[in-house]
Amino acid sequence: MKLVFASNNKHKLEEVRQILPTHVEVISLREIGFVQDIDETGTTLEENSALKAREVWNWLTDNSLLDSVDGVFADDTGLEISALGGAPGVRTARWAGDEACDMNNRQKALHELAGVKDRAARFRTVVSLIIKGEMQQVEGIVNGEIAIEEEGDGGFGYDPVFIPEGYNNTFASLSSEEKNAVSHRGRAMEALRKLIDNIG
Ligand code: IMP
Repeated sequence: MKLVFASNNKHKLEEVRQILPTHVEVISLREIGFVQDIDETGTTLEENSALKAREVWNWLTDNSLLDSVDGVFADDTGLEISALGGAPGVRTARWAGDEACDMNNRQKALHELAGVKDRAARFRTVVSLIIKGEMQQVEGIVNGEIAIEEEGDGGFGYDPVFIPEGYNNTFASLSSEEKNAVSHRGRAMEALRKLIDNIG
């Protein structure tokens, strides 16, 4: 089965390819020649995930490429911090500003929680799968907390400041196998795998 993953993020592609079974071939946007940016104008993770999948599906249709793949999926992830009412949520990627990098975003998380006792947070990933024009959504959640300071040099994004429940160290200190086993994306991909299995 060939599925286009609506992403070019090499960390995410690597994770997704590790998690999904080997009979699912995951193809990046670059590999299909899709080069434009997708505006994430939705106000929820569900909307943004859906609009990314739909845009790529429509592009494949317009370019008569639907015969070469079996479907498309997209993900959208948010960090939801309890003490901040679920922020940054849908704004996770641009929390510290439109030009902000991962490090700026992590610093903002540590700054916003400076002196705050309740450091509970979760990552939530919503995956939208389109096969034969029909969309289905699944989600994956990992509960945890925001660390007091950065730790570890693996992973990406907020990994150095997020400690998953049941662990003493951040995602950035775990091996990719350990992270995938409990992560929001790992769980969302597991749910996606079940969806694909049911489709046949
Ligand atoms: P996206 O929806 O996957 O593009 O992710 C939105 C934001 O969440 C970006 O700032 C990512 O860096 C961050 N993010 C997504 N997944 C992870 C993860 O597994 N670890 C840390 N940060 C992540």
